Amino acid sequence: MSHRIESVAIDGPASSGKSTLAREVAHHLGFVFVDTGSLYRTVALALLSDQNSPFNEENPKIQKTLSNLNISVIPSPSGARITMSGLDVTTHLRTEEVGAVASRISAWPSVRKALFDLQRSMALKGKIVMDGRDIGTVIMPEARLKIFLEADPTVRARRRVDDLRQRGIHASYETVLADILERDRRDRERPIAPLVAAKDALHLDTTHLTIDEAVRWIVDRY
Ligand code: C5P
Repeated sequence: MSHRIESVAIDGPASSGKSTLAREVAHHLGFVFVDTGSLYRTVALALLSDQNSPFNEENPKIQKTLSNLNISVIPSPSGARITMSGLDVTTHLRTEEVGAVASRISAWPSVRKALFDLQRSMALKGKIVMDGRDIGTVIMPEARLKIFLEADPTVRARRRVDDLRQRGIHASYETVLADILERDRRDRERPIAPLVAAKDALHLDTTHLTIDEAVRWIVDRY
């Protein structure tokens, strides 16, 4: 590819450590960091607060909410702040309920379209590490470095249980594993922007790596 953007795209399945690694890599390179999952979560929050029923893409009320979305991202090295209609919603995005809805609506073409320009404009500014599912394939195919993360689902489930426990939430390992497998399936099988490695992405399996080892591996390849 002739034109490269000075940036890093990190894609991978649920709980593969994308955001943690993206934040650290951004810190090492002096770039900003944007976790695009937060944007899908913001749309989920908007749809949840409108009590939409039936919950499907064809519902005109849902389409109205999508066309009125006013999301802004204030990027920073430690992670972006996200505002919706001027209100900072960043701390409301990491709940299990919001994550479950985000996983479903991210397969809707209208949702992906609504978030495309915002992500693309951040990508074009460069000096950014973005993580998600379609960054290397759709949002920032010109990224200088593209990483596709992998990790054994059982290890991802264990990490997620530990992460939830640290936030005071008890979740059974079996439930979390089933949820991760279902989210992976939805992300991989959707017709638009599925979770798939870009042809020129480097694959990194973090199953047996510490965060520091994985960060070093990525930074060394930039
Ligand atoms: O990464 P995170 O779990 O926060 O993302 C929430 C949901 O948004 C995921 O389950 C995934 O389906 C979706 N997503 C996406 N494309 C992205 C980032 C996230 O489809 N670039």
